[in-house]
Amino acid sequence: MQVQNKFNQNTKIIGVIGHPIKHSFSPLMHNISFELSGLNYLYLPFDVPPALLKDSLKGMVALGIKGFNVTIPLKEKVLPLLKDVSEEANIIGAVNTIVNEEGTLKGYNTDVYGVVETLLPFKDELSNSKVSIIGAGGAARSVIYALIRNFNVAQISIINRTEQIAESLKDYFSTKMLFNEIKSFPLVPPDLIEVFRDSKLIVNTTSMGMFPEVDDSATTIKESFMKGQIVFDVIYNPIKTKLLKLAESQGATIVTGLKMFVEQGAKSYELWTGEQMPKEKVMKALESYLTS
Ligand code: NAP
Repeated sequence: MQVQNKFNQNTKIIGVIGHPIKHSFSPLMHNISFELSGLNYLYLPFDVPPALLKDSLKGMVALGIKGFNVTIPLKEKVLPLLKDVSEEANIIGAVNTIVNEEGTLKGYNTDVYGVVETLLPFKDELSNSKVSIIGAGGAARSVIYALIRNFNVAQISIINRTEQIAESLKDYFSTKMLFNEIKSFPLVPPDLIEVFRDSKLIVNTTSMGMFPEVDDSATTIKESFMKGQIVFDVIYNPIKTKLLKLAESQGATIVTGLKMFVEQGAKSYELWTGEQMPKEKVMKALESYLTS
């Protein structure tokens, strides 16, 4: 057997912390990219319960781990533990990327960047238009921030199973970003047909329809969608969710979560390594993995 010393004293470690961690595709994406680019980095998943979050950051510094992605349920909890937090992460109240700069931990939210890059081709259409966001969790916050900051939308409807959470998000963004054109609704699809049809963009930010629950969908009412609309699902597994299939069958333009996933990952990658991710090649590799 020939032994290859692929990892050595110069290998830099990146990780993702969360609890549980088993659904993350970030290790696959970043390790493909390191391999393609010939970078001496290794990306590993770490299951960190909230009670051990503080210790995990101390460990990161002690071991010289260069960066972390942060996922559910640690994205909000990690914010007060960091030395420096970027503007978007501060406003959203969640960090998905930490960079260890010689012992100083800096937090960012690259999901926002992923949303902006994904919706950029529709910038003109979205200006002064009404949009609907289904869901009111972390992904919804990134989408709402990006739409207010970068796309000059006229009105945002936040639709959520737990209506009070949608209402508090509405109040939150009115206060934090001085954007008052926000409405909130409970997720009762038959009552929302007009809200959806009045929206240039509909974004699903709930986990409904994510593998293995691929037969779930935030709405199954086909009249919710029509030609001329853009329908974006942040889920990337499966690539084309039940909601996107329905929207496409009604003539809407559909946008998958895979683009956002790769774009947010590419921004984190650049923050850690100073290099550009080979995005097209990584996207193709993930597409073939997710559809095989
Ligand atoms: P989160 O903070 O836990 O929020 C989950 C949201 O989904 C909440 O609004 C929740 O409603 C709603 N929800 C969950 N199950 C539901 C159900 N059975 N019926 C109705 N509503 C339901 O999660 P998150 O961080 O926002 O992530 C949400 C999704 O976005 C995940 O699938 C994640 O993989 C994906 N995501 C993708 C990217 C990307 O790069 N493409 C980035 C980030 C996240 P309640 O408030 O009523 O509980």
